Amino acid sequence: MKYGIFVNHEKMIQRYKTYLKQLRRTIKAVKELNIYTLDKLGSKTAVRTCPICHGKPYDFGFLAPIYDFVKCPKCNFFYARELYDEDTLNQFYRDDIHNQEIQQIQYDIIKKEVETHKLIPDSFIKRCIKNQTGTDKCLDIGCGFGVNLSFLKPHFKTIEGIELDKFAIEKGREMFGNDIKIYQKELKCLKLKENSYDLILLNQVIEHISDLDMFKTIHKLLKPKGILCIATPTSDSLSFRMFQGDWVHVHELGHIQLFNDASFKAFAKQFNFKITHIQTNNWLDIQLNDVICRKRKGFVHRFNDVPYINPINLGISIITKSILNTTNLLSKLNNGCYVEVIMKKDDG
Ligand SMILES: [Zn+2]
Repeated sequence: MKYGIFVNHEKMIQRYKTYLKQLRRTIKAVKELNIYTLDKLGSKTAVRTCPICHGKPYDFGFLAPIYDFVKCPKCNFFYARELYDEDTLNQFYRDDIHNQEIQQIQYDIIKKEVETHKLIPDSFIKRCIKNQTGTDKCLDIGCGFGVNLSFLKPHFKTIEGIELDKFAIEKGREMFGNDIKIYQKELKCLKLKENSYDLILLNQVIEHISDLDMFKTIHKLLKPKGILCIATPTSDSLSFRMFQGDWVHVHELGHIQLFNDASFKAFAKQFNFKITHIQTNNWLDIQLNDVICRKRKGFVHRFNDVPYINPINLGISIITKSILNTTNLLSKLNNGCYVEVIMKKDDG
């Protein structure tokens, strides 16, 4: 017979084993992907100016495994100046098995959450819903499996997504149904109706977009009072300031720029939006593992497996999370891992 605190201990061990399995699987996939990327892709041939203001001057930013990041002095914006050309990248995303493995890991996690009814909207999606100015149409650019659209569905008459990845679309349909319209084309190739969207969102997508001028199109698509909501890793975070080029969010092929409070202000000015809310979320994103392994060769933030530390690590994470949840401290200090921005279309 089991009592009190011991009731769930088997369940806890099981959860811990699953966490460890997921961690090790992800570490392996990410490390292999980066080795493969650098080996396979050759030299970077596409050079760009500041994606926000198109200014040429730049300061040194920081070095990351795949890109050298520079900083626009005008926009306070970190961006990779030299990129791989588009064809090389498209081919890579289509054929690469490491990338497919990472997709599969994400799918396995989400599927399990759906099956056990544990999938809940995050602070960003709650904020999108809270700030919505109309109920007609919403568009999620880079919607992935469609998790966010499934939360937005009850709040709009029509919901649409843009996603280029076939695997994500198919699996998304299996999990969330066929009634969500997903375009499998880039925004510039679609003829969407101007002045028709109440909400356009990009969750963990803007850090991938090489040509930010697509926000001119997004501006046109929004209704006069429509809102644009963006969430992305931020250089204002405590974790970025601690890890710089070792930070997990600048450690992959897809992440080519890094926003913060100041660069979003420059962005809003450039593309005629008015920021109505900007704040980081409340996630610290620094684990004991990270602190201990910081000086190790091949260190990558968030991807360190130290068998004896892992249980302590998990324990501290739970405690930190509960303290942060009650105090909302990181968000108040604007030091959380992701920045969440709400902007209104501004016609001047
Ligand atoms: Zn700039």
